Order: sequence, then structure tokens, then C-alpha cells
Amino acid sequence: MKLHIPDHIAAITPYPPGKPIEELEREYGISGSIKLASNENPLGPSPLAIQAIAESLSGLHRYPDGSGYYLTKAIAGHLGLAPEQVVLGNGSNEIIEFLVKAFVQTGDEVITSHPSFLMYQKFVQIRGGVNHVVPLRNMTHDLDAIVGLVSDRTRLIFLDNPNNPTGTMIAAKRFDAFLARLPEQVIVVLDEAYVDFAEEEHRLDTCSLVTARDGRCAVVALRTFSKAYGLAGLRVGYCFSAAEIAACLHKVRQPFNINQLALVGARAALDDVAFYRQTLETTNAGKRMLMAGVEALGCRSYPSQTNFFLIDVGGSATVLYEAMLLKGVIVRSMQAYGFPQCIRITVGTAAENERFLAALSECLRECGYV
Ligand SMILES: *Cc1c(COP(=O)(O)O)cnc(C)c1O
Repeated sequence: MKLHIPDHIAAITPYPPGKPIEELEREYGISGSIKLASNENPLGPSPLAIQAIAESLSGLHRYPDGSGYYLTKAIAGHLGLAPEQVVLGNGSNEIIEFLVKAFVQTGDEVITSHPSFLMYQKFVQIRGGVNHVVPLRNMTHDLDAIVGLVSDRTRLIFLDNPNNPTGTMIAAKRFDAFLARLPEQVIVVLDEAYVDFAEEEHRLDTCSLVTARDGRCAVVALRTFSKAYGLAGLRVGYCFSAAEIAACLHKVRQPFNINQLALVGARAALDDVAFYRQTLETTNAGKRMLMAGVEALGCRSYPSQTNFFLIDVGGSATVLYEAMLLKGVIVRSMQAYGFPQCIRITVGTAAENERFLAALSECLRECGYV
């Protein structure tokens, strides 16, 4: 075998896949562990989605509706936009890929923040594009530094809003001023994966922002069914934008990129208002309880507009992460994200949150941090 691996592919480090929970348990000799590491919905999937999926199983011999007609229409209605402005993805991750495929050529530039969602840079690398990475400032996107890096090769700017992993958001005034300073050919992508959890007054009016306007650059918003709707395993996300941008994204997608179960499941979840409300209530109550508990243990917690938050544990986060793992509580160390003393924890059910606090209390003592 003699492979010609392009340099820009050879340079990519693969996304580190987390081990299945069953494997972790076997390795560490534990059982009944809880995973508070991936910002998933602790209540499970939307019940209406489960029901709709079960009812559609007998149709699996057919190809899915390649236009995603009903789901697209439902999402557009939900947002008050036209269906031509909405594009569905196999998770919002796939939309990130579409954007890069459609707008970035070899040598074109893309600006992202660090720490932030890692997939933005990955797709740019695959495409042979150039990543400019701007460190967060005060745990939030450094919009001034981003403007400073814009050149006539800049095609996309990715901003997760709220940011993962800090949970912070961009203030509307700052964002408007930022847009006004960008050249018209740039596309600003707002990844709103966690916007459902954000307080109303902190949200940007993305439905208006995506409307095309002369003299100003375009804005695209990404959303997902993976978090507040509890469907991470189903893989459905979407974006909304000016219809001209959506038309470009449709050109680069596969005809059946969303499977039939995902189409019906997501559509039912969108109507499952009771589940959605319960998710937000559980998250908000759990977050308050966890933050108070964490502070009582002498750790600092960072305010967050999402279903997760950072905790400064006062010592190596990776050491504490391993100690927590031995007690069957899986969290995320933020060492690799530039916060060596922080763990990131997803808000769980009340029982999971209690268990997390008990394990944290023991581990802080074992590690000698308190
Ligand atoms: C979880 C998450 C997503 C969701 O990705 P999907 O592909 O829709 O599951 C997107 N962006 C960020 C920043 C996330 O943390």
C-alpha cells in the first residue's frame, strides 16, 4: 500500500471519542455510574418523540423524505421564518460542515475562539482552510480581537453563544457594534446549541439578525435537538439564515441526510411543550442547588446561561476528575481547554446532583484541595 495522504489531512488529530460507559465501568470496577459530562438531557428523550418514532418504525423500508418537508415547516413556523430559510442537519455538527464546505476554499480563513466547540476548526482543517483562533477574554468571546484578525480572505466567524465550556453570552449591544465593524462578505455563525437554557433578556434576537440587510454581513444561527429536547442520539440540528445562504447549504448536503426516525422524532419533540418546560425547570432548579452546594464545599462556580457550568476545584482538575470517576461520577476536566483547575459539570436529575455533591466532597478531601 502506498498512500498519498494530503498534508492538511495528516495534520488532523482525530476527535477523542469518549469510551462507552460500560467499558469505563469494567475498567474501573464500578457500576451504576452517572454521566454528567456531555451536557445531555437528564430526563431522557421527549416522550412524544419516543412515541412518534415507535409509530414510524414500520416505514423503515422507505427512503426518508429528503426535503424534510414537515419538520422544516414546523421549525420555520416555530421561529416565524420562511421554510426556505431553514436547513436541517444530522446534528448541528453537520451544518457546521455544510457551512465550511459551501463557503471555505483552500487558503480561506475562519476565525474561532478558544476554548470553544472544537468541531469548527476540525472541518476547516479538512477543507484546507486556515484557522485563526482567538483566546476568550474574561471567559467570553473577544470580539475586538476577532475584528482585528479579519482579512479579505475571512469567510466565516464561529461564535458559540452561549459559549461551551464557559456558559457566557455576548451582550446584544456589543454584538451589534461587532457586526457593524465587519466587512459585508463575512458570515457570522452563532451556534445557539444552549440558547433554550438562557434567560430571555440575555438572548440575541437571532430571528431578526438573520434577515439580510444591505451594508451588513450575514448572520447564520445554529440550533439542535440534542440538548433541551433530549435527542442527542437521534442526530438532528438545523440552521436559519437568509434564503440565499440556505440555498447554498442545500447544494452541499446529501439528499437523505436526516433519517426518517429523526424527522418524525424531532417534529414530535418540537410540539412536546410539557417536556421542554420540565427540562428547563429541572435544569434551573438543579443548577441553583448545585451551585450553592459547590460553594458550600469551598469551590468557586462560574455563572452560566446553559445546562452546565465550570467549577474551580482549587487543584488539578484532571486528578479530581479521576478520583470522581472511581466513585462512578463522570465529569469533564477542563485542563485541555485552558482551565487546569476547572471541571465542567452538566446539571443532572436531583438524585444525580446529590450524588455528584457527595462524591465531590469526598474527592476534594482525598485530593487534599480543602
Ligand atoms: C452540544 C453542542 C452542539 C450540538 O451538536 P449536535 O451535532 O447538534 O449534537 C453544538 N454546538 C455546541 C457548542 C455544543 O456544545
